[in-house]
Amino acid sequence: MKGFKEISCFLVTAAFLTCSAGAARAQGGDQILDGIGETGMIARYVFDGDLKDWSRNSLHGKLAAGQPSFVQDEQFGKVLSLAGGQTDYLLLPPEALVDLESLSITGWVNLRADKKDQYFFDFGQSASKHFFAAPLGSASQAGYRAVVAADQNRIYSAVAPAVSINKWVHLTIVIDIPSKAIQTYIDGKQVAEAKNASLELADVFGQSGAKRQLFIGKSLTAGMPTLKGLLHDFRIYRVPLTRKQIAGIYYNSLKDLHEDTAHMGKTEDDLPTFPMTKAQLYNAYLQEVADVSVETNVGELPRLPSYVQGSYRDGMVGPKVRVIWPSPTDNNEVLSAGRYTVVGRVPGTDLKPKAIVTVRGSSKSATPISKLASFQLDQVSLDSDMHDHDTKFIENRDKFVLTLAKTDPNSFLYMFRHAFGQPQPQGASPLGVWDSQDTKLRGHATGHYLTAIAQAYASTGYDKTLQANFAQKMEYMVNTLFELSQLAGKPQQAGGAAVADPTAVPFGPGKTAYDSDLSQEGIRNDYWNWGEGFISAYPPDQFIMLEQGAKYGGQKNQVWAPYYTLHKILAGLIDIYEVSGNKKALDVATGMGDWVYARLSKVPTENLIKMWNTYIAGEFGGMNESMARLYAITKEENYLKTAQLFDNIKMFYGDADHSHGLAKNVDTFRGLHANQHIPQIVGSMEMYRVSNNPDYYKVADNFWYKAVNDYMYSIGGVAGARNPANAECFISQPATLYENGFSAGGQNETCATYNMLKLTSNLFLFDQRTELMDYYERGLYNHILASVAKDSPANTYHVPLRPGAIKQFGNPHMTGFTCCNGTAIESSTKLQNAIYFKSRDNKALYVNLYIPSTLDWAERGVSVKQTTDFPKADETRLTIKGNGKFDVHVRVPAWATKGFAVTINGKVQQVAAVPGSYLKISRKWKDGDVIDLKMPFQFHLDPVMDQPNIASLFYGPILLAAQEPEARKDWRKVTFDAQDIGKAIQGDPAKLEFSIDNVVFKPFYDTYGRHSVYLDVTLK
Ligand SMILES: [Zn+2]
Repeated sequence: MKGFKEISCFLVTAAFLTCSAGAARAQGGDQILDGIGETGMIARYVFDGDLKDWSRNSLHGKLAAGQPSFVQDEQFGKVLSLAGGQTDYLLLPPEALVDLESLSITGWVNLRADKKDQYFFDFGQSASKHFFAAPLGSASQAGYRAVVAADQNRIYSAVAPAVSINKWVHLTIVIDIPSKAIQTYIDGKQVAEAKNASLELADVFGQSGAKRQLFIGKSLTAGMPTLKGLLHDFRIYRVPLTRKQIAGIYYNSLKDLHEDTAHMGKTEDDLPTFPMTKAQLYNAYLQEVADVSVETNVGELPRLPSYVQGSYRDGMVGPKVRVIWPSPTDNNEVLSAGRYTVVGRVPGTDLKPKAIVTVRGSSKSATPISKLASFQLDQVSLDSDMHDHDTKFIENRDKFVLTLAKTDPNSFLYMFRHAFGQPQPQGASPLGVWDSQDTKLRGHATGHYLTAIAQAYASTGYDKTLQANFAQKMEYMVNTLFELSQLAGKPQQAGGAAVADPTAVPFGPGKTAYDSDLSQEGIRNDYWNWGEGFISAYPPDQFIMLEQGAKYGGQKNQVWAPYYTLHKILAGLIDIYEVSGNKKALDVATGMGDWVYARLSKVPTENLIKMWNTYIAGEFGGMNESMARLYAITKEENYLKTAQLFDNIKMFYGDADHSHGLAKNVDTFRGLHANQHIPQIVGSMEMYRVSNNPDYYKVADNFWYKAVNDYMYSIGGVAGARNPANAECFISQPATLYENGFSAGGQNETCATYNMLKLTSNLFLFDQRTELMDYYERGLYNHILASVAKDSPANTYHVPLRPGAIKQFGNPHMTGFTCCNGTAIESSTKLQNAIYFKSRDNKALYVNLYIPSTLDWAERGVSVKQTTDFPKADETRLTIKGNGKFDVHVRVPAWATKGFAVTINGKVQQVAAVPGSYLKISRKWKDGDVIDLKMPFQFHLDPVMDQPNIASLFYGPILLAAQEPEARKDWRKVTFDAQDIGKAIQGDPAKLEFSIDNVVFKPFYDTYGRHSVYLDVTLK
């Protein structure tokens, strides 16, 4: 097949780029402009005929009054012309300045008047708290001035000679918070710098939601003149652009090229470096590392242990040694039976541990069946702690549940009604951010919302009024979506024309192609032509365009992940069906499931492979999971077939011949977008559940092991690459977090951890490996719990872990959602869902997490109450109500290395509890039986795998963050006693507040200011 050959050739090229450590470009598309990942960009205004934001954030500008004027320019084509009149300046949405790490502004200006006080831009709260650039200076001071003012005592100016007039100049102004510097550039070259600028951007722009104004072409001070001149390509970045990046932007726009390799590559190499020859941390005491023997089956790469026994000098007892093994991109080493040796390395040492791999002739390995089940949300309730204080879990739950209760469902239905051309109820207002009218992802928040209100409904049995509120919301949402879906593909009036067949959807009326135009003038509303069953917050075009090869981007011929959005909607509908039995919810989901099957079953496999590997455009969330769930509910074979059509063949199986891939333990996800792919793996588990095809299990299990061992930050997040230059991506090579991770734009996209936890608990239901729930605990306490603002349900996108970083929280009122704002309303409405599991035969209970809670094990007529102050105490009590013989499996965490004591009804039990295992307690339980568990916490370090001196400090399961007084560039240095790191630490375990060298350390989940989660540790 010629066509196929061409496609696979393309894929091979793409894979090569993805896997090559030097390439900054992981996948094609607009997401990497001038070598800078799109997550670093807030907005871009090209000004070639409109004032629209070219980025995905839809932060469109507008003229203060009247219509903008564009003129033809020799150099840049159509450009914006500001005439210098009173109202000739632009306003940008105030939301543009949220979630800032630092701030950089770039743009082209051609000044047409030799007059001072012409402002390129002025952003701030007032004329005394603002950030501006005046290219010709002000009345009081000449020159090209860039000024940041937080208050009277903190005014920092970078001043350079004034720019030339009547010619295009490229201006860049950078506020680099960690470096405490303000830099200005002209035509890609630095011209001035202000140093020692000690400030926070929140001091200048206010907290999220504060009153702030963003002007282009005018000062915030009333009565000042406006700018007279031409403008082109104005950009706002949330990161401090580097010299090289700024030069790249400048040269590329002259060449009219999006990418120029001469100015690309690793653009963010500003992390402190350490000599690679120096053994760090425990490795400095290391004498030897044992070799290991591993077995595998023909075709499957072995799972090599990440941690291996080592021996240390001077009788020191050190931890197991992190070994970095090679990670092949295919399975050539294991294609026949036999024995071979893999040589690993230990960073900073010459030690070369060996793994002797025996390849067995059999090509089959067994996969487990599901022995456990989770409890329904309404069977587990969160309790307060032993001092009757709300736990962090209750606090976060209440922030979300109470705010959700106040939301107006009509906001979440707005764009659905808009797509179907239906009137809006009085007072209905649309959501913003990624659900605003022009945004091609609109409707995604609605899907998350459906899931959140379903979970909130199931979880609020403790408050019947709240529960009724959510019941009402579910009913209203489903009724409206049902009515809209019933319109699709049916005549508008009896006897009218309609297109019922999803594969026969014509172009929009008067159009000559499918397009993703959602503007008031451009959107199509001919729902009768959309095929029966269709539901979305936009017309069907994006789905069809994706089949035809459309890429991700903001143009009319581009799309933004239609199946991602659809997954959220289907998942939400199924969740509502499952908690409330609402049949209409199921009908809407199956109707759209039929629509998807009708279309995708006609798409050739090679085209599907191409679609699902298109960056972001082909991101489909967990469509495979939702379709598999629909199959499990209805037993309708077509849904299973549809789910299979979402197999990411390249990642799961390497290629169309299923040569290798994750199913054979080959790491095929390096350098890829993390949250595009993790939900596909969650879906793979659901496929295993409904199909019993062992490959699906292996895909998920192999992925999990690699993600957690080779890509994980200490909080449990797995995304955040600076190579490729995209904070949302996995690093370009496994186990190189320091070399290729710690992106300046942030790390640890929160939605990715939401999905990792979902995957983890699903895997545990099949395989009760303790490391799974150890990871769950880590991610739950140190990322999910840590991702919520102090006094509102505002939450994080990235959680940055560079020195002195700070969390940024968004969406306090649930009015504008990113992906992570979407998963946040899901996470915090189901915080109790993994505390307990049970065996399917109801003969065993698993206690996974130590959180005050009550379990209603209705199937056995037993309830279990867990009372504890954990993690402010290292013990917990389980009180059993009811009688019966069953096994209680309690988790002995891997961090519980100082012992694990079990007492039953006051009697100490002789148990052999091994850290990192589950301990089985079998007994005929009687009403009132009490199990006490004690697991002393200790301080321990979690080093970065390829730079072990950079490590996080944990106390038991709790990550401790240094509370930083201000931003910083270098890692905080700490020295510990090699034999006992706790020696240098003072503090109160009951408050989880400690100090080292007079610096306060608190749980990361209780940290809201600047923090250092990673330290530069020396052992003595
Ligand atoms: Zn996200």
